[in-house]
Amino acid sequence: MHSLWNDAEAGRYRGDLALRVYTSRLLGRDRSLVLHGGGNTSVKLRQANLFGEEEDVLWVKGSGWDLETIEEAGFAPVRLAAARRLAELPALGDPEMVEQLAIHTLRAGAPPPSVEAILHAILPHRFVDHTHADAVVTVTDTADAAERVGEIYGDAVIVVPYVMPGFALARAVFELLHAAGGAQPGDSIQGLVLLKHGIFSFGDTARQSYERMIHLVGLAEDYLRGRGAWVLDPASAAGAAGAQPAGGAETRLAEPAAAAIAGLRRELSAAAGRPLIVTSRRDPRSLRFVRRPDLAELALQGPATPDHVLRTRRLPLLGRGAAAIDAPPVPAATAVAADTTAGTNWTAAVAAYVEAYRRYFAEHAAAAPEPKTMLDPAPRIVLDPELGLLAAGRTAAEAAIAAEIYQHTMDVIERADRLGGYRVLPAARLFEVEYWDLEQAKLRRAGEPPPLAGEVALVTGAASGIGKACVEALLARGAAVVGLDVEPRIADLFPRPAALGLRCDVTVEDEVAGALAAAVATFGGLDLLILNAGIFPASRDIAALGLDEWRRVMAVNLDANLILMRRCHPLLRLAPRGGRVAVIGSKNVPAPGPGVAAYSASKAALQQLARVAALEWGGDGIRVNIVHPNAVFDTALWTEERIADRAAAYGLDVAAYRRSNVLGVEVRSRDVAEAAVELCGPRFSRTTGAQVPVDGGNDRVI
Ligand SMILES: [Zn+2]
Repeated sequence: MHSLWNDAEAGRYRGDLALRVYTSRLLGRDRSLVLHGGGNTSVKLRQANLFGEEEDVLWVKGSGWDLETIEEAGFAPVRLAAARRLAELPALGDPEMVEQLAIHTLRAGAPPPSVEAILHAILPHRFVDHTHADAVVTVTDTADAAERVGEIYGDAVIVVPYVMPGFALARAVFELLHAAGGAQPGDSIQGLVLLKHGIFSFGDTARQSYERMIHLVGLAEDYLRGRGAWVLDPASAAGAAGAQPAGGAETRLAEPAAAAIAGLRRELSAAAGRPLIVTSRRDPRSLRFVRRPDLAELALQGPATPDHVLRTRRLPLLGRGAAAIDAPPVPAATAVAADTTAGTNWTAAVAAYVEAYRRYFAEHAAAAPEPKTMLDPAPRIVLDPELGLLAAGRTAAEAAIAAEIYQHTMDVIERADRLGGYRVLPAARLFEVEYWDLEQAKLRRAGEPPPLAGEVALVTGAASGIGKACVEALLARGAAVVGLDVEPRIADLFPRPAALGLRCDVTVEDEVAGALAAAVATFGGLDLLILNAGIFPASRDIAALGLDEWRRVMAVNLDANLILMRRCHPLLRLAPRGGRVAVIGSKNVPAPGPGVAAYSASKAALQQLARVAALEWGGDGIRVNIVHPNAVFDTALWTEERIADRAAAYGLDVAAYRRSNVLGVEVRSRDVAEAAVELCGPRFSRTTGAQVPVDGGNDRVI
């Protein structure tokens, strides 16, 4: 573990609050120290108020901010004296503590101060850093944690037995400090180790506090290394850096595996009462862990630090049993037809998990001082020897965070196991954190999710025009989106966790299969399919239309859509709310124009294909609808030259041609995308086989 402090970088941060931002980001940069909102930091500053009166202010990380990206605005300024005084109370409910901290915050609009604010306040040092460092958590997730910590640190840290985070923890540390002879830890004390939770460091400067954290965590790493418990697999000596993107050539999912994941997603979604995103990791490190013969013994204990219970739940769901794993692989060619029972082998496993979760809730809720509302009982982590590590969430970001946290959990478990055994908190202690008053209050505040939250959409021709607008409309409705395009720039077009851009020639079946495998590996299945990719060749009379051009248009506008529909059907059938397909047709279907025979014929055939799909797939709960746009000029199909050309064909000037419809309006990509996506939404749940013009009204169609 090395300090990332850099004088040149640090020089750009002026003042103690700015340096607090800098070293907080340094902590956030290292995933083995903090993950996704975990950890917190503070600095105590003496500052004057409007009346010129000096006051000590605790600037502490606000909840909702991530250390990796925190800014000055992410710190809440709390009156230090008030925060310290709260610690003198023998007891205080956490909701009341949050209220008190908010009352004593000196900036309207500041984020709520961290729930560890009082603990930061009672430590006398100016800078305080707190992380859930993997190495420290590993050492303390063992049976003889306190002895090990003593062996590593001697008197350099104060050992704090596990106490529920929040006021109880602050109060416990307050009492420890007083028992140790006053509120001032000795000069040799550099931090606190919180058993089965994490570590605090402190110092007089930002650099000292940060570098003490690095030093203390480094000592724990050295301890693990010295006992053969650091490097887990000589072949991947990077250790904790186990994260790998989903998909990828070498990890491409076979079709039966993709169907199994989509089946799992359906079961998990049913248990959760809403669609969930399921992301998977099949890197060698994850596979090695999930194939351990003693997996149940190791994984069915609980999370590495209680904070994680909110993301991963207390326990993962393990596999589908030996029968599924030993089944002979289904030949790819027959997989689509043969695999009609995909998903059924998860039913019993998920039902058993749900039953166990209900028992866990009933048992511990009964002992709680106030009534609790049960979370949905679906597991968030599934470990399967064949499929690897699977993580579920209500959004793509949630699922990805759960997966990353569990990848670190695997390291902690295996290393603690090498030290002599992974031992975490009993279920009752984890229940307290999972069902903390503060978390329950968040639950009550949460509004309705967006209409397509937890659903997965695939859009072809997604790099521009109507396809790009569809991606935006889907993301805005909460869906995760896979965008395919023949243009390589699709890969970077939508840089966010809910979007996956893949270069794909949809006329090549193997490329489509690869894209679907990546979609399932990343998001767990497919709910919505938007068939948009198309080409529009230059105007040509039939007398001059070559067969090559005709075939090229048919390949993209028609054949590719057959490939996509056939390949997507097994996944759409497993969509938790039923699959939906939107086909981007054309006004040329009901009202063709001269010079565009190939295009018009391809779209007319596509319309028939979609109508037949609506008939065939209704029994599978899949809706298929068509929109017919016309004269959408902000797409890749159109150039100024082409617009002039088509305007001339209708005997109109360009301005008139752009608005040559009954309403006299321009039709934009966004108008078409909104209509297509809306047809996939809940308002049209009883509509299939419909054809909706999005053309401003066409007198030949009306
Ligand atoms: Zn913590």
